[in-house]
Amino acid sequence: MANRYVLIGGGLASAAAAKALRVADPEGRVTLVTSEVDPPYRRPHLSKALWKGGDVAKAMLDVASSGVEVRTGRTAKAVDVDGRRVELDDGETLDYDQLLLATGARARSLPVLPAAPPVVAYRSLADYRVARERSGEGKRALVVGGGFVGAELAAGRPRHRQCDHPCMWETSGYFPALKCRKTIASG
Ligand SMILES: Cc1cc2nc3c(=O)[nH]c(=O)nc-3n(C[C@H](O)[C@H](O)[C@H](O)COP(=O)(O)OP(=O)(O)OC[C@H]3O[C@@H](n4cnc5c(N)ncnc54)[C@H](O)[C@@H]3O)c2cc1C
Repeated sequence: MANRYVLIGGGLASAAAAKALRVADPEGRVTLVTSEVDPPYRRPHLSKALWKGGDVAKAMLDVASSGVEVRTGRTAKAVDVDGRRVELDDGETLDYDQLLLATGARARSLPVLPAAPPVVAYRSLADYRVARERSGEGKRALVVGGGFVGAELAAGRPRHRQCDHPCMWETSGYFPALKCRKTIASG
């Protein structure tokens, strides 16, 4: 009987493992489960290429064409290790021979700024779509977070073509301060 591989997570780690498994065990059945509405994609595009005219299609990691079964919008709720079975949030169960947990990270919300409109806790392609939808001429945005993602967004979004008027961006943290102040100054 073919090996059944279940991979939990729709990020790069899970996508890369899925492709590698298809090569290492062509007869195996590989199922990737992701709680995101989108199949796996390259997360770095969310703070770089997509704000500079990049195409969403080029951000996608095509694992389905290599024979991987992709389940989007599904969250693993429980794992029965002895019974080798994963339970999804809709009640479906997946039996496995090998299980990979690649559940990655999530954006940390602040108690004073819960991730509900108009606040976006930026991590996923769905978050990009929301932020992009709200961007445009005359719009202003505030970036909270001084890491790489916050700095890249602050530096990149004002160059977004629809943003004809100066945008105001602020970040906390030492790393991007120079870059972001420069962005604000140059509008
Ligand atoms: C905007 C942005 C830009 C970035 N740019 C860069 C860059 O330029 N260079 C770089 O090296 N790194 C970059 N990173 C970081 C890089 O994307 C991460 O290191 C990488 O995403 C980690 O991959 P991962 O597969 O381990 O986890 P993640 O990408 O976090 O994926 C985890 C996946 O698991 C899913 N998941 C979680 N729990 C469950 C569950 N119970 N059931 C089903 N699915 C579940 C999530 O929905 C998600 O799809 C960036 C990150 C972001 C957010």
